[in-house]
Amino acid sequence: MLGFSGTREWVYPQSIKGRFTTLRRWTFLALHLILFLTPWILVGGKPLLLIDIPARQVFFFGAIFTASDSFFLLLILLFAAFALFFFTSLWGRLWCGYACPQTVFLETWIRPLEIWIEGDRVQRKRRDQQAWSFDRIWRKAAKWAAFLAVSLLLGTAFVSFFVPARELWTGQSGNLAYSFVLIFTGLWYLDFTWFREQFCNFLCPYARFQSALTDDETLLIGYDPARGEPRAKGKAAAADGRCIECNKCVVVCPQGIDIRDGFQLECIQCARCIDACVSVMDKLGHRTLVEYTSMAEQSGRTVRRLRPRTVVYGGLLVALAAFGFTLASQRIPFEATVNRVPGTLFTVDPDGFIRNTFLVQITNNKPGEEPVDFQVVVEGIPGAEVIFQDVRLASTEARTLPLIVRVPPDQGIGRTTSLLVRVTTPDGEIVIPTTFKAGADVGSGID
Ligand code: SF4
Ligand code: SF4
Repeated sequence: MLGFSGTREWVYPQSIKGRFTTLRRWTFLALHLILFLTPWILVGGKPLLLIDIPARQVFFFGAIFTASDSFFLLLILLFAAFALFFFTSLWGRLWCGYACPQTVFLETWIRPLEIWIEGDRVQRKRRDQQAWSFDRIWRKAAKWAAFLAVSLLLGTAFVSFFVPARELWTGQSGNLAYSFVLIFTGLWYLDFTWFREQFCNFLCPYARFQSALTDDETLLIGYDPARGEPRAKGKAAAADGRCIECNKCVVVCPQGIDIRDGFQLECIQCARCIDACVSVMDKLGHRTLVEYTSMAEQSGRTVRRLRPRTVVYGGLLVALAAFGFTLASQRIPFEATVNRVPGTLFTVDPDGFIRNTFLVQITNNKPGEEPVDFQVVVEGIPGAEVIFQDVRLASTEARTLPLIVRVPPDQGIGRTTSLLVRVTTPDGEIVIPTTFKAGADVGSGID
């Protein structure tokens, strides 16, 4: 089947066991637990993590963030970017091999299913080269049906971070939610059945710029030509611990590359080739020729963990984390805005008082069952009469209420007088500046 380059060779990675394969399996299990359980865990009656796009709210570890907290989103994105820079400069493409959803899902679901239904590398390859037969058709049909089921499962799990999980999984969400489930199911299905390693090689932006984030001292997976060459089949090479050209590191590679050709952009550092070479060289009583290393180590230089780029990235990470935590700890869990009612700036009441009417919008972002009492205090004009009904709001409830400020005719204010509107709760207050309007200087005037 053709790929983007028009010359795609289908990759048939052989199954492999080993230390790194086991380590990756445990990592994948932990990541699956996070994926499937997080949307169901409630903190203060709200999901541990829910990104409610229509309501423009994010529930995160018991806190509720709204559009006015966009600055936190910027901080999180910056933190994620610098974390990627930091970890890539130290440990290369650890993300690709151990945590990228593409790798995690392919290794956890797709390859085991493929091997279970169609057999390991040799059987799969041989069957694909044969003419279509009943055996080939039912196996392909069963495999693609299984991939579709996995895609649907993963698509639903992903959308559970955007709509309440219980409603989604019990068929009670809206059409829009299920449309997105279908879109993600389709994308995963396309990836699992056809795209696979082409995603890393052609589409993934991280793969493209990771060479700018690494240097000679970054941890990579590499073949040691100093010990492995000249490679040869036969007893002499086996006795010396040289590469015996068993090709095992090549046939297990999901990217279809030969690690002995040197460091390559296509390599996702999955470490399958290490497990492959260990399984061969262990039996011969020698150290593996493919291992975690670096270009500096291979050329005999000392590897420094503290380098200018790791110090800068690490320092920025710590500074961003400290800044974010400080901001979060000072955050007040409600929003308030004050706007003048549309229409006239002021009115004169029958008793001669000058009246300004505002609309106060309050949103309670405090999680939990307990409602919160809100009071409004107006400062700036001594003797002004303030009419506002204190309000009690449940979590996530928003209300818009009139605020009337009346000033006696003999108060002595100008056309425009500054006001401060304080919206207070036991958790803190928000102070909003606004102005009181009068038609002409009243009394002595303060304009
Ligand atoms: S070369 Fe090795 S580490 Fe790189 S993708 Fe292939 S098997 Fe994984
Ligand atoms: S697994 Fe080791 S010995 Fe076998 S071909 Fe690869 S590098 Fe050579």
